[in-house]
Amino acid sequence: MACAIQFDPVQLPAAAEAMRKRVREFLHRQASAGSFIPNGFGMTDHSPEFSRLCGDAGFIGMTWPREYGGGEHTFLERFVVTEEMIAAGAPVWAHWVADRQSGPMLIRYGSAAVKKMVLPKIIAGECYFCIGMSEPDSGSDLFSLRSRADPVDEGWLVNGRKIWTSNAHRSQYIIALLRTAPATDSNRRHGLTQFLIPMDAPGINVRPIHNLTGAHEFNEVTFDDVFVASDHIIGEVDNAWKQATNELAYERSGPERFLETFAVLYGLVHAAGRDPEQRSAEGIGRLIAQLSTLRQMSLSVAGMLSDGKVPEVESAVVKEMGTNWEQALPGVARNLVPDIIGEPGEREHLEALIHQATLFAPKLTIQGGTREILRGIIARGLGLR
Ligand SMILES: Cc1cc2nc3c(=O)[nH]c(=O)nc-3n(C[C@H](O)[C@H](O)[C@H](O)COP(=O)(O)OP(=O)(O)OC[C@H]3O[C@@H](n4cnc5c(N)ncnc54)[C@H](O)[C@@H]3O)c2cc1C
Repeated sequence: MACAIQFDPVQLPAAAEAMRKRVREFLHRQASAGSFIPNGFGMTDHSPEFSRLCGDAGFIGMTWPREYGGGEHTFLERFVVTEEMIAAGAPVWAHWVADRQSGPMLIRYGSAAVKKMVLPKIIAGECYFCIGMSEPDSGSDLFSLRSRADPVDEGWLVNGRKIWTSNAHRSQYIIALLRTAPATDSNRRHGLTQFLIPMDAPGINVRPIHNLTGAHEFNEVTFDDVFVASDHIIGEVDNAWKQATNELAYERSGPERFLETFAVLYGLVHAAGRDPEQRSAEGIGRLIAQLSTLRQMSLSVAGMLSDGKVPEVESAVVKEMGTNWEQALPGVARNLVPDIIGEPGEREHLEALIHQATLFAPKLTIQGGTREILRGIIARGLGLR
């Protein structure tokens, strides 16, 4: 049976290692100045100040063309910046979605007017995006979504409801996937279109949903006769499915898929010290060997994106394996804690990290595509279905 999964080997070039030095110095400076507390769970912290500093330093829109203010760096240089930021626990959440997927999507499919208006603000770290795909009755099966846009003079009128919309309460824009025509008998994917919608448009209502930790991270967003101008269509009318799939390749494969709770591993290594008990040494060694493999696979996807490929199946493999590893991390760490003595306070700190990571764990295999859906994509890639 043919195997369609291919992780191209990749080596980080000198420019990427030079970028690592730059971003480490930046993070060290910001942590010393009190912009964030390093080695915690900062990734989902919203900090406009930190995002602006990232913009000033050229760490947003790194791969984008210069004509929009981008840095024209490679995906591998961006990879290094991403992994350093997340591993350090930097508060990147405000600009995260705009930088990772909304900006690249607008560059490929947005109108000239929209690009000119929005991209420089994203690059400056001042413009945040949320993703409006899921609906109350359509999560995994997005083809069944019902929120719709109907044509009117000079634009469209949007009605419907999105759910689990991360950061909608703090974003200036949503990219919403909407029904513009019924699916056809021969093509279930037909009839969906993506729109750029300002979150302050009249008729939008955002209601908070609190997660397991009690934090307000995602929302329900309703649209009641929201007018959207024609030039805010992203890509082709009725044909958004392919571009939404491309977007998911960016969303699924990055180091954030296994580093969101990296602080636990950092805390574990730190508390175990230079001369750990054999059981701790073995446990930590196994975790690091697995992490190193995941990282190599994620890096390979970054290399393929750099080469203009769309490694949809490989991205699914990274997310599936990465989130499983990360979901298991607090349990593995808790199992090793009894053998760790550490400096005074270190073990308590580690236990607090493990507690928090345990609360984060369930979402990891749901957000960005559930475990079962990813396994289905992988099975298809392997020719098994
Ligand atoms: C923290 C977090 C943040 C999120 N942020 C966003 C966001 O910003 N924007 C956004 O649009 N969405 C967001 N989501 C929503 C997320 O994308 C959906 O929850 C996810 O796609 C699953 O959809 P669902 O919840 O409707 O579950 P369902 O699709 O109803 O799935 C329920 C269960 O059935 C299984 N299942 C479904 N279909 C199949 C199948 N064909 N074969 C086998 N098993 C199947 C699933 O794996 C799952 O276990 C977020 C979710 C979380 C947890």
